[in-house]
Amino acid sequence: MTFDSLSLIEPILRALQTEGYTTPTPIQQQAIPIVLEGNDLLGCAQTGTGKTAAFSIPLLQLLYQQKSTHKGIKALILTPTRELAIQIDESIAAYGRHTALSHAVIFGGVSQLPQTQALKRGVDILIATPGRLLDLMQQGYVSLQQLQFFVLDEADRMLDMGFIHDVKKVISKLPAKRQTLFFSATMPPEIAGLANSILRNPKKVEVTPVSSTVEKIEQSVYFVEKQDKRALLHHLLADQNIKTVLVFTRTKHGADKVVKDLVKSGIGAAAIHGNKSQNARQRALNDFKNGTLRVLVATDIAARGIDVEQLSHVINYELPDVPETYVHRIGRTGRAGASGIAIAFCDAEDKVNLKDIQKLIGIQIPHVNDHPYAMHDISLSTFRPVTKQPQQQRSHTQRRSFRGGDSRRYASQR
Ligand code: AMP
Repeated sequence: MTFDSLSLIEPILRALQTEGYTTPTPIQQQAIPIVLEGNDLLGCAQTGTGKTAAFSIPLLQLLYQQKSTHKGIKALILTPTRELAIQIDESIAAYGRHTALSHAVIFGGVSQLPQTQALKRGVDILIATPGRLLDLMQQGYVSLQQLQFFVLDEADRMLDMGFIHDVKKVISKLPAKRQTLFFSATMPPEIAGLANSILRNPKKVEVTPVSSTVEKIEQSVYFVEKQDKRALLHHLLADQNIKTVLVFTRTKHGADKVVKDLVKSGIGAAAIHGNKSQNARQRALNDFKNGTLRVLVATDIAARGIDVEQLSHVINYELPDVPETYVHRIGRTGRAGASGIAIAFCDAEDKVNLKDIQKLIGIQIPHVNDHPYAMHDISLSTFRPVTKQPQQQRSHTQRRSFRGGDSRRYASQR
């Protein structure tokens, strides 16, 4: 299937060509016609599936076809993090470059002045995080009277991050007559309830159940004592094949510690988390994207939505308590069909999380035992004993070095 067969208008097709997109991803194939026909949409999909284009493209087309000269916000895209908001804004700019539709992005943590100036100039499509949006609504800078389209992005993450109350407040201010597109990677009961209450006869699109996106990513787990994780990270980074690596820690403090240690050893690294200023976060992200920064260390909230082409490795320095978070994390690599490598460090405390993750994704993650910091107390592992492979040590970047676990089943799922 090509984009031509989706009844898209020429200005959008031309922009997609410039972007180098030839084939719509599964969510785009399904969602674009549904939205163009004017239906509400319930999309079960996460970042990495092409969902931003799946809602942006038909939205741009519908607005373009109205040929309205009337100023005012006609579409609102609500998303949980600043990084996601910026990325959506960039996507709208790219796909809509020949449409002359105006757009602006608003988020907290930075001066509101450029944002209010953009709003005053008049905006067709507004991308926003909930807190700043409510703030600017209360100050009278945002009017949603003209709104026709509402996109709620990453609804489950809104709940996780404690934004759901703000989201409901925003929704209560929207005109009842509108087209609503609702996206969530998972459907906990509160999110399903919210979807039910705001969607009208929605068409449902489910492209990647949260557990299946991991299939194209080479996963492995390294059992290691907590105090040896730093040394193991250095050991792995000695492999120059690792060009870009996103390291996840559980806490902001933990992220700073890892960065400090890497920088001391001359490895380019920066942290991205909620205590960093928006400018510092954006700088780190840009340096990481353009390849000047090799290691980006992030907490989950800050990393949400990071979209870096060519991200080869994700390292879980600690495993998350919520198994879905693991899937989100490793989904930072292996984007839009590319393959990626995800390595997990597992100490005694992480073990229970590893069990939950494997239950969710339905596979046993192959484990690597031939590294200098292998945990001696193998009883920690719930896996079958691993027989040491003779001959040369293989790079961890080679899939064949993943031994033990259920690697055959893993291979068959790729
Ligand atoms: P998203 O799921 O929206 O975060 O998109 C993930 C990545 O896939 C982004 O880098 C997009 O630019 C890219 N992408 C989206 N749709 C396509 C497509 N049809 N062809 C190639 N790349 C795409």
